[in-house]
Amino acid sequence: MDVNEILEKLNNKTEEDIKRIKKAYEFAKEAHKDQKRYSGEPYFVHPVEAAKLLAQMQLDTTTIVATLLHDVCEDGHATPQQIEKEFGKEVAFLVEGVTKLGTVKYQGVERHVENLRKMFLSMAEDIRVIIIKLADRTHNMKTLDAVPERKRERIARETMDIYVPLADRLGMGQFKGILEDLAFKYLYPKEYRWVKENIVGARKEKEIYLAKIKQKVLKELQKNNINPIKIDSRVKNLYGVYKKLLRKDMDVSRIYDIIAVRIIAKTIEECYAILGIIHRLWKPVPGKIKDYIALPKPNGYQSIHTTVFCDDGKITEFQIRTEKMHEEAEKGVAAHWAYSMAGKPKEGAKVTKKLSWINELREWQKENQETEEFLDNLKIDLFKDRIFVFTPKGDVIDLPEGATPIDFAYCIHSDIGNHCSGAKVNDKMVSLDYKLQNGEICQIITNKNKTPKRDWLKLVKTNYAKNRIRNYLKKELGIEIPVLKVKQKKEKNIELKITAANRVGMLKDILAIFQEEKINITKVNTDVRDKKNPIIIIEFSINDLQRADLILSKIKKIKGVKKITKAMLKN
Ligand code: MN
Repeated sequence: MDVNEILEKLNNKTEEDIKRIKKAYEFAKEAHKDQKRYSGEPYFVHPVEAAKLLAQMQLDTTTIVATLLHDVCEDGHATPQQIEKEFGKEVAFLVEGVTKLGTVKYQGVERHVENLRKMFLSMAEDIRVIIIKLADRTHNMKTLDAVPERKRERIARETMDIYVPLADRLGMGQFKGILEDLAFKYLYPKEYRWVKENIVGARKEKEIYLAKIKQKVLKELQKNNINPIKIDSRVKNLYGVYKKLLRKDMDVSRIYDIIAVRIIAKTIEECYAILGIIHRLWKPVPGKIKDYIALPKPNGYQSIHTTVFCDDGKITEFQIRTEKMHEEAEKGVAAHWAYSMAGKPKEGAKVTKKLSWINELREWQKENQETEEFLDNLKIDLFKDRIFVFTPKGDVIDLPEGATPIDFAYCIHSDIGNHCSGAKVNDKMVSLDYKLQNGEICQIITNKNKTPKRDWLKLVKTNYAKNRIRNYLKKELGIEIPVLKVKQKKEKNIELKITAANRVGMLKDILAIFQEEKINITKVNTDVRDKKNPIIIIEFSINDLQRADLILSKIKKIKGVKKITKAMLKN
């Protein structure tokens, strides 16, 4: 083993980067000498393997250096002061963050939650701490066989409950898939083996078939002057298959996306054009087009998915995305560090690229280390409109933003809600209309003479608490409070038949309008029986008919559109 195993994975490295990584490598080697892992291997193998994982993802040199050093204080013979002196403040900060997370060992539910809390809070300081921790955990899970049996389940459970959701939330699909399957193997060994045995056969058969499909798509794309960067197939991870099997009566033949064809295109426009071409080749399965480009998933995931009745009626999923979307789906937050490093020629040069939220936050953080503004913004972005509030014992209560101590009390138990008389937040008394904040510790004070008031309905944010309060008022006091129903406009399904000139980019132009208006289409099809006047058929649902007309008028303006007919579909 030598330092080149790490260096050769890094694409853009300067002499300075190489020097720093070599120095950290030697430092860690010395600090861990004489130490062994459970497997009998030198301990030093572990930080090197973790650093290799992150070098593969093109993380910045500071993160790789910190990964090499992540255990030198806890398990090795070095001190934080030494690290700061040799490698600077930033590296020392990251190592300290990782060490702090590691000191709390999981010992049952409460400890576990305490660990979770530290994670969230450290995340607010520097996400790279979590990225290093994920690499650390991935290598530990890969070598879990060597760990004594009694410890394995705890580690696997913690991985499944904490690290997998974290990787998912941070959009790091690669880590998520690997960690999930490794945890699956130890937590449900029988199920794991079953899935593996039953899927591998199905996979092989599918792979042969997909090779043919890929050829066919490629030929068709080239005919339309589209040269995708890559067409390959992605295999669903085993735990993902297992979860789906549970919903499909364990019938493997009912899962269509065990293997999906993945097309990496050069531009967003090409993604939509490719979607059109695929739908011209094969009929789409109704309701299975998912446009995550127009409407990204909460963790930022972008791609177009469609499922079609392929050759011989075989149902096949296609995923279409750009290279950048692909990289972000695999690496998530970590991709942003890689970008900024490659995009920044020299220290001090201005980053002119439009930065994503995480990168902006990193910049702010540099300027205002630990300011409240920074922390607030990070929390908002990371957890969108959820907050996590802790009980004095350390249990996490997940609430919507704006929730009050009454919501919190009902979440714990309806008796606590019904007799809630006051609340302490971080040991200070607060009023019952206090808006709880992320990371706070809330303690509810109860009084058996205290009962719910009608006014409470205005103070609570969760439906759960509202219903409990209403029930109480009705049952105990005979007061019936009508549920105010917000009149929901019904979604209408609309079908457009657009007769348009047969030109390259036509479908793309039409779909771009839906994208602009953030309308999710549910079906796209083409009718080319009349070659001179092909028809594009689009279905979408909308609750505002005026907006539908606006879309119609926009489509009419597209060059080459000859006629549009609109029809309402029955639900
Ligand atoms: Mn470690």
